[in-house]
Amino acid sequence: MVQAIRGMRDVLPDEGRRWRAVESELESVLSSYAYEEVHLPLLEFTELFSRGVGEATDIVEKEMYTFADRDGDSITLRPEGTAGCVRVLQQHGLLYNQTQRVFYRGHMFRYERPQKGRYRQFYQLGAEAFGMAGPDVDAELLALARACWQKLAIDGNVRLELNTIGSAADRGRYREALVAYLSGYVNDLDEDSRRRLTTNPLRILDSKVERTREILAEAPVLTDHVGRDGRAHFDALLEMLDALGMAYVLNPRLVRGLDYYNYTVFEWVTDDLGAQGTICAGGRYDALVEQLGGRPTPGAGFALGLERVLLLFEQQNLPTAAAVDVYLCVLSDDLYTEALSLADRLRLELPELRIRVHAGGGKLKNQLRKADQCGARWAVLVGGEERARGLLALKALATGEQTAVSIEEAVARISNTA
Ligand code: ATP
Ligand code: MG
Repeated sequence: MVQAIRGMRDVLPDEGRRWRAVESELESVLSSYAYEEVHLPLLEFTELFSRGVGEATDIVEKEMYTFADRDGDSITLRPEGTAGCVRVLQQHGLLYNQTQRVFYRGHMFRYERPQKGRYRQFYQLGAEAFGMAGPDVDAELLALARACWQKLAIDGNVRLELNTIGSAADRGRYREALVAYLSGYVNDLDEDSRRRLTTNPLRILDSKVERTREILAEAPVLTDHVGRDGRAHFDALLEMLDALGMAYVLNPRLVRGLDYYNYTVFEWVTDDLGAQGTICAGGRYDALVEQLGGRPTPGAGFALGLERVLLLFEQQNLPTAAAVDVYLCVLSDDLYTEALSLADRLRLELPELRIRVHAGGGKLKNQLRKADQCGARWAVLVGGEERARGLLALKALATGEQTAVSIEEAVARISNTA
């Protein structure tokens, strides 16, 4: 048998059911905040990401699935959604002179080392807000994320880490200070960090190498270089978060790996998933639209990793409902189409329930065993002696109690216990 490609994750039915439950909760929160869905292509020109995400980022340097298509164009499987989202709105004239609040979801692709919570194909749900420069929309996005965790009952297991990284000019001044400091330790730095000293020194702050981390402990702090406007934006945001009763941890070392952020950056972090503890990350990116060729347009947003959110959800929540609610047993082969019709009638009356008709014949005993295996609470036996009286046999699988009832009564009984 051909096996799956490394890092591509298969979702089996049990997880698929929980996945759908989680996704539909998230969808309902986004909808209640009046964010509207956009669909982004899986493939974009490579240039979109090299310009949008940044040449000197991990993603562009070493994580993208890039190939030449049959015309020789350089194409990339999307590694993230924000650049594509900007491209879509810009191309369709939806950014100029207006505000937008949108969300997208779907698979992203990054060539990285697969482990628990880290895959090469993974699923993000992202929310983005355009055309609003103030901290009010930063607060809205954070409230929206918090509402998602509350809805999934994982809000007790995550914390918000928050920082401001100032404007591009602030970061320019900071970069100089950082490079000046690190230049005193060139020989002690790891190889990647030494290279980044000239390409993208801020990314050294993300280094996981122990000796480099020791050196960084004494390094100048970005937050100290944030100018007056950036400071005011951040202070106003913190005031709003306090008023909203939103807990946060200020983390002056939080800088995010993507180039396009300014001012506010944040991560929602959990201690319950080991090394892959960030379930959601984002911030403000006022320069991105212009960087991609549009008119200057402020933007802010976040993306959450659905696999990680699901892992956390599964740790906190009892298993969700079984695969099937009502199982129709077919007592003789010539009654199969009658059973299908009956099932369709029940589906109309009980649209929330999962109703399965047995296929493949066999003894009633074996059919009932299948009903049990898939977690059904009710069996309907099609073809018993009740049929002559226009009734059907309804069996409560937990107690084994079986009664002859009309369709209406069966519907009433099943929905009372649903
Ligand atoms: P990390 O530091 O874990 O690599 P990142 O900073 O690269 O994350 P973002 O690009 O900000 O992540 O993506 C937002 C979210 O998407 C992350 O917080 C995480 O939940 C999820 N995510 C990112 N990369 C992966 C991956 N390879 N597999 C699963 N989820 C991922
Ligand atoms: Mg990453």
